[in-house]
Amino acid sequence: MVVLAVLLLAPTCGGGSDSTAAPTTTLTPATTTTAPTTTLTPATTATNAPTQLGSLSAPDDPTIHLINLSSTPTSELRSWANLASNKMADQNANILVVLYHIGRNLGPEDPDRFGGHPFTPNEVLLSQAQIDGLMAQIEEWLQNDLCMGHQDEEERLDEELYRYRLWLEEGADTSTQVGLCEKTRFVMMAWKEGSPVWDTQRFLVHELYHAFQHDLEGDCNDTIDRKGRGDHTPVVVEGGADYFTYFVAHELYTDADRREFEFGSPLSTLLKEAKERTYEDGSDEVMGSGMATRAAAVLALMVENGWLDHESLLDGSFFHDCARSDLNESNSHYIYAKNNWSRIVENSGEWKFSN
Ligand SMILES: [Zn+2]
Repeated sequence: MVVLAVLLLAPTCGGGSDSTAAPTTTLTPATTTTAPTTTLTPATTATNAPTQLGSLSAPDDPTIHLINLSSTPTSELRSWANLASNKMADQNANILVVLYHIGRNLGPEDPDRFGGHPFTPNEVLLSQAQIDGLMAQIEEWLQNDLCMGHQDEEERLDEELYRYRLWLEEGADTSTQVGLCEKTRFVMMAWKEGSPVWDTQRFLVHELYHAFQHDLEGDCNDTIDRKGRGDHTPVVVEGGADYFTYFVAHELYTDADRREFEFGSPLSTLLKEAKERTYEDGSDEVMGSGMATRAAAVLALMVENGWLDHESLLDGSFFHDCARSDLNESNSHYIYAKNNWSRIVENSGEWKFSN
């Protein structure tokens, strides 16, 4: 029971209404299909909250900026972000990550309150001055971005700022990656102070992976629209992010974490926790509670059967050229995995798919 209770703390950037997909409604159509610049190991810099962002950031100089108002040391967040970023074959995005704490929960998910996003309202711990300062920094970053800072994007920039402020001032439990442009990504994440460190590590790695998924924005969405959207669309996006998270966060856990929470190998931990999700709502539907972890198990089953390449998920290249559009309801391998992912068993402490 202890483990389950802790697992519930794990952020869910999933569910039926994942906020990763939502913001595309405000996106300008992609106008370029040129190959991304080949920057293999992007420089990652972090910025402490009170300091100014400073230098201009441009898409050809992919950078991860952190604005950290949480109690987790920025140096730690930066090292986790670097670890994740360095796994990528081609991290080409300019990314801003805003991190802060919220207080006690004040109610269930309330999309009407948060501009359509499925966030819950919580006690606001940031002062008005902190929120104002944060918003000024976000605006500066957006203005300095080559895509969002363009004159044509002025109205959209204002809309984005409006909703970020709304989320902050209303205590939203944000866990979202906003694809502002193909190479401009914004992450906002809030959590309760005192959450286990491993949980925060997973949270950050998961959201960053969305920012690393090139084809979340741009022409791929037209292809997916043509083939037909459905549950498979968020399943592949969220499954990819959580699959990556289990493998990468595994490198960050302390030995004490491994003992206390019985973290085995990345795959075993993923399958164990995916199975535990089915106990939460008595359902083995992939769209059930904790969808991202269930979806990661779907992809893991495809990997195990040789239908999907583990390395391409780990280095992000699976999401470079819209390969995700092939994982849909007319793909028999995907259908098989969607229907059989929960056949997970434990054998001598190792969790695996049953035969
Ligand atoms: Zn997600």
